[in-house]
Amino acid sequence: MRKLVFIILGFFFSALCFAAEIQRIEPAFWWTGMKNCELQIMVYGPQIANSTLQFDYPGVNLKETVRTGNPNYLFLYLDITPEANAGTIKLKFTEGKKTISRDFELRRREHSAGAQGFSTDDVLYLIMPDRFANGDPANDVWDGEPINRADQYARHGGDFAGIEQHLNYLKDLGITAVWLNPVLENRMYQAGYQGYHGYAITDFYAVDRRFGTNEDYRALIGKIHEKGMKMVMDMVFNHCGILHWWMNDLPATDWLNNQQKPKMTTGSMYSLFDPHSPQTEIDAYTDGWFVESMPDLNQRNRLLSKYLIQNSIWWIEYARIDGIRHDTHPYADFDFLTEWCKEVMDEYPDFNIVGETWYSNPAPLAWWQRNSKINTRQTNLKTVMDFALNSAVQQAFTTDENKDFDLRKIQEILAQDFLYADPDNILVLLDNHDMSRFPKKGETDLRRFRQAMAFLLTTRGIPQIYYGDEILMYGEKEEGDGLLRKDFPGGWQGDARNAFTKTGRTALENEAFDFLKKLLHWRQTSEAVKHGKLIQYAPEWGKNCYVYARRAESGKTVLVILNGSQKEQTLPTARYSGVIGSARSGVDAITGQSVDLQHNITVPAKGTLILDVL
Ligand code: CA
Repeated sequence: MRKLVFIILGFFFSALCFAAEIQRIEPAFWWTGMKNCELQIMVYGPQIANSTLQFDYPGVNLKETVRTGNPNYLFLYLDITPEANAGTIKLKFTEGKKTISRDFELRRREHSAGAQGFSTDDVLYLIMPDRFANGDPANDVWDGEPINRADQYARHGGDFAGIEQHLNYLKDLGITAVWLNPVLENRMYQAGYQGYHGYAITDFYAVDRRFGTNEDYRALIGKIHEKGMKMVMDMVFNHCGILHWWMNDLPATDWLNNQQKPKMTTGSMYSLFDPHSPQTEIDAYTDGWFVESMPDLNQRNRLLSKYLIQNSIWWIEYARIDGIRHDTHPYADFDFLTEWCKEVMDEYPDFNIVGETWYSNPAPLAWWQRNSKINTRQTNLKTVMDFALNSAVQQAFTTDENKDFDLRKIQEILAQDFLYADPDNILVLLDNHDMSRFPKKGETDLRRFRQAMAFLLTTRGIPQIYYGDEILMYGEKEEGDGLLRKDFPGGWQGDARNAFTKTGRTALENEAFDFLKKLLHWRQTSEAVKHGKLIQYAPEWGKNCYVYARRAESGKTVLVILNGSQKEQTLPTARYSGVIGSARSGVDAITGQSVDLQHNITVPAKGTLILDVL
């Protein structure tokens, strides 16, 4: 009898152990009504691969069970047919006499706001979430990692609540979409790394709790949608953080590239299309680790590829994000990227993905864009980032007051748009979190800022602004990346001033802010700028004036005149008659002043005119 009790108890405890030891099921839930019926579920727990799965749920079938050689992982492939209704699937894992049940929720797919993509109608505003505003000091510290605002590389405490508190500020400024640097968990401190920037992800299904919860993120996006704005999520599929939970027990022997012995990335992102490059150069580039703290994911492993693709779809469906910015795009496996972009766009045809394609000339950018004219392989990447134009802008808009702006550099880059399959879906930027800020320390002459912003917001493509540019925040790359990501003044309790308010800004900052605000709101109303054709005139030697027009199909035209020279210039309008037509005048978008277009236009030194042609 006693023996029997022990046997029963032993059985009970072993079943309990087994039960308790399914540690993760990812994704945690899914949806009915998706176009792609296949769902992969990763199950993690000691010896889980020794069990078999059974369930009985109308419209859902088990297609395949995959074991990897690591007994602690089981990958399930389910077929969620269109007949399946929302509900709870009782997954039963059985090993010998032991059985454990786990609930898996199928939610009904919602078709509420979101997943609407971003386009030339939008202006993106990039925020480093740790550095914008701290709306909830209670969530600042986790995992023993202190906050220290005096340390440029430490966490500063910014969060979703802080962003939410300033949505009216963003709306008032006139931006239409928010891009946050990665918000997923970066639990890197115990390995000696400060993961405030977000690019070392340690859990692909959880936002970092120092920003808030998954539900907080979802709620923030709901509020953004209520205000008529959009959210772009930063994703990283090339690598993960060295303390990602699966690094202690990798799912397969080929989960990472160079898994047995880490090898850093070498070579060049140009090798990918270089007709003179051996394959070994490409492999060294794409399979090497980005840095020691960020292991390189092998997306050629079909389980991992599916896991990552599904992860992005989970975030779109769950949080209703409107677009994705994908980090270090060329570093990941080419075929994986193509498949990922295809599956996302198949599920959400209006969606948009922009890849971080850091090339300083147009041909490689055009090579990466979908339906490329110069790439025999399909990338399916709708939008690329115009680092070529960015580079030209940096060179053109010199801070040397004794030099002209070299606007030819800009015209020459845009002249190469013939390479692109789709010159509208190109993200244009003056700066971002990885480069010196466009405004400079001590700069009091705003002509450079005004002209560059005017260009950014009236040229072709989708403009992106970096947080703080509107109040002339500065920071140089040489001083450290952390200083490119300074705290927005007023985002923290007790800050000396609050630059989110007019009274908290200096007169110069208000001048910059007001200019940008005016321009952003005007842009929202300008069909010509949002959708018009770009027509540009080469700057004349000596005069250094860059003149271009945006013309909508309706005929509505905006004429932009940038005087890059240090002298007032007078331009005979006959040269631009093709875009001015019979119009007699134009109205300046900023000053509201009427400008005569019949004979000559006079533009002050380094002056800017943005004219609605009448
Ligand atoms: Ca906080």
